[in-house]
Amino acid sequence: MPRERPSYHDDNFGHWEIEDDEDVEFYHQVQKESVWKNCQRCGAKVKLRPDYGICNSCADKIEQGWDY
Ligand SMILES: [Zn+2]
Repeated sequence: MPRERPSYHDDNFGHWEIEDDEDVEFYHQVQKESVWKNCQRCGAKVKLRPDYGICNSCADKIEQGWDY
């Protein structure tokens, strides 16, 4: 029987598909490193890792070719 898993979501990567406890640890590590900042593209206040400049929804749009 599959274990119930909480769903993980953040501004760095959006939805996390977490299968292993190691990945849960990584998720918590990412949350610990993340700081509040304004997305460089849409200006939304998001919690991102220091080396990330844009939120996940902007990153998705850029990936889908919405960038201009
Ligand atoms: Zn954004």
